[in-house]
Amino acid sequence: MKKVILAVSAHPDDIEFSCGGTMFKYEELGFEIYFAVATNGENGFKIAHKPKAERIKIRHKEQLKAAGVLGVKKVFFLNQRDCHLEYTEGLRTKLVKIIKEVEPDIIFSFDPANKSFESINLNHRDHRIIAEAVFDAVFAARNRYAYPGNPHAVSFFHFFGPDKPNYFENITKYIDCKIKLIEAHRSQFDDYNSMAKWVKFHLSSYTRKYKFSEKFRIVEIKKPFVMEDAGDKSK
Ligand SMILES: [Zn+2]
Repeated sequence: MKKVILAVSAHPDDIEFSCGGTMFKYEELGFEIYFAVATNGENGFKIAHKPKAERIKIRHKEQLKAAGVLGVKKVFFLNQRDCHLEYTEGLRTKLVKIIKEVEPDIIFSFDPANKSFESINLNHRDHRIIAEAVFDAVFAARNRYAYPGNPHAVSFFHFFGPDKPNYFENITKYIDCKIKLIEAHRSQFDDYNSMAKWVKFHLSSYTRKYKFSEKFRIVEIKKPFVMEDAGDKSK
């Protein structure tokens, strides 16, 4: 049976920076990969001042380009405002709908346990909000009645950029592919060489075990409790 990954980000480029190498690894293992990007990323623009509509267009185009490099099946754009993401019923509904549609085995997203506020980038408000919304949507998607559509039980969270990682993925083999993915987001850096150097420096610092790695907090999600599974002794 086809194995499926859904990676959910707050901004275009979050997935590439946080777990792009790991995505290549899973792609090679035969997983179908889907992206969902919550905001349009229109305020993360570093190269030139352009009208908002144009910035949104550029960031969508870059996200689709990166997805194309990786062979992502589909990118879901949730079209929320960059820096103004709100945890609403509407956001959770959209996430549940996507989960029920693509039926992922593994969800990649930000870690809702990240509360260290040690990094102004990593602890970005949009990251904190999408992390909690995804966590709650995974719970809700298991339920038959809360939202339309057949229930779906995700098996694992792979939280990226965690304060307290419990797993390091060896991406040494994929380092150049990962940098190529990030390169698609050309509006986000001025100089390719500095970006590549910065990425390599960070990915070499997580663990001594591997030359380059990405870090995760992996959580296995227990299957939903079903009466029949527990064995009804009254029968
Ligand atoms: Zn971000």
